[in-house]
Amino acid sequence: MSNDNGNPVARGVPGAHGEGSQPGAKPHRNHVRGSGDFVFDMRSLGHRPGEFRDEKRTVRAPDGLGSGLVLVPAGADVALDLRFEAVSEGVLVTGSAVAPLSGECARCLDPLTTETEVSFQELYRYLPDPGEDEADGEERFLDGDLLDLEPAFRDAVVLALPLSPLCSADCPGLCAECGAKLADVGPGHGHGDKVDPRWGLLAQLEINDRVED
Ligand SMILES: [Zn+2]
Ligand SMILES: [Zn+2]
Repeated sequence: MSNDNGNPVARGVPGAHGEGSQPGAKPHRNHVRGSGDFVFDMRSLGHRPGEFRDEKRTVRAPDGLGSGLVLVPAGADVALDLRFEAVSEGVLVTGSAVAPLSGECARCLDPLTTETEVSFQELYRYLPDPGEDEADGEERFLDGDLLDLEPAFRDAVVLALPLSPLCSADCPGLCAECGAKLADVGPGHGHGDKVDPRWGLLAQLEINDRVED
């Protein structure tokens, strides 16, 4: 558990990260730009368009990724599979990330764990010359030779988070009347004729209407 943050290449055997999320994962500080797991050094790539480099890396999920019903646990293993390609404006990153998700089922509120796989393609430009117009906020830039993938990763994951995560596609949810979990109490679960008295009155009115017809 004493991984040196500065040497992520040595860890992360592909396909060997097991359960992924560790319940006791220690919270970690937000990385300073340029020093995090998600930072890649582009020095070896060179500036010649067409050159590319493939890299797989297992990194720790940053804090605060997700909201509401589902999130990527901070510090959980995220598997990155990336291609960095030199283009004339900068570096084009194409790749995918697999991240664990934990949350609760939107229907029955049971805890659930699953994972999400996101794909992305982002252009990181060389920093504009001082004289150039300030670029708009949507663009991403290299910081010298360093490429910080975290913002692109965050954007891709947030877009992919399910709005209504389900423990299973056919989760029957909870009984609207007593809150029992319908998957546990079975399809026969019901509350007989004990309906709200106001509905009972309405039903009678409808019957009377029908009789008069
Ligand atoms: Zn459920
Ligand atoms: Zn019930």
